Amino acid sequence: MPSFLSALTGSFAQKADENPTVAMVEAAYVAAGLNVRYINCEVAPADLAGAVRGAVAMGWLGFNCSLPHKVAVLEHLDELAPSAAVIGAVNTVVNRDGHLIGENTDGRGFVEAMLTRADPTGSRVLLFGAGGAARAIAVETALAGAAHITVVNRDRGRGQELSDLIASRTPATSDFIAWDHTIAIPSTIDIVINATSIGFHPDVDAHLDLDVDTLRPGMVVADVITNPPTTNLIRAGQARGCITIDGLGMLVNQALVAIKLWTGKDVDGAVMRAVLEDLFGTPA
Ligand code: NDP
Repeated sequence: MPSFLSALTGSFAQKADENPTVAMVEAAYVAAGLNVRYINCEVAPADLAGAVRGAVAMGWLGFNCSLPHKVAVLEHLDELAPSAAVIGAVNTVVNRDGHLIGENTDGRGFVEAMLTRADPTGSRVLLFGAGGAARAIAVETALAGAAHITVVNRDRGRGQELSDLIASRTPATSDFIAWDHTIAIPSTIDIVINATSIGFHPDVDAHLDLDVDTLRPGMVVADVITNPPTTNLIRAGQARGCITIDGLGMLVNQALVAIKLWTGKDVDGAVMRAVLEDLFGTPA
């Protein structure tokens, strides 16, 4: 069996042994006794085509793509999974004997993490953000059965575009609210999701412009931020009796889905979560 998996990353400088995803996935492989590796390669945008050809030539099972390659890689693939085609971005590529299939496991990872605590079927969702993470989450949450998704975003064009995408390409209905005022969560909302980068280290004190007193007991409050996992939003949800879901669950589950696609094996999510908690701190 080809023995290497890889992450094709963007231009941020980070040593492989300092990359949380590498640490998390490698720990899962070791625990599962799998004879595969996950390595981090920095690839400049101009070298993407060559890197993809190289991965195939070396018989890699596949690779992850991070920014800025998630969209640029599309033109180098042979096939797109249906949800990746709707999202318009790929974070996981699977090499089936030289036939490259693009998948997006970010949104599926989010939904898998949510399903451990709550079922989105028939729910009304309020989603902050309209970037890559928000697109993946919106499409997969809609495909998982959410009835309606309200997109709240600072940039009106991007927010409206995501709302239109949900309404036209998924079974859910959608509307858009421009984020130019403090948002009060309508009483009809069941699930609130932060898919913006607000709260990510080092801006850990940043708050969403949201009236946290409109969060209700029993409402689901989810955040994509991994570092730190206990954001101000998660803390506000906990204080008001909400069901809270932090960003570590999404990160672990997107990898579980990708590893299954690459190797056909289920690995241990608890092993991966323990690695992340070691790096980012145990959630409160
Ligand atoms: P993008 O750059 O594509 O999108 C960023 C989003 O955040 C946009 O909607 C942007 O709004 C919004 N935003 C940023 N700053 C502000 C602000 N000050 N006020 C209001 N809105 C703001 O990033 P991604 O979607 O790729 O990533 C978003 C976050 O998700 C990152 O922190 C990333 O680490 C995390 N993530 C977590 C994953 C996980 O597994 N847990 C997986 C993938 C991502 P606007 O459009 O107006 O600029």
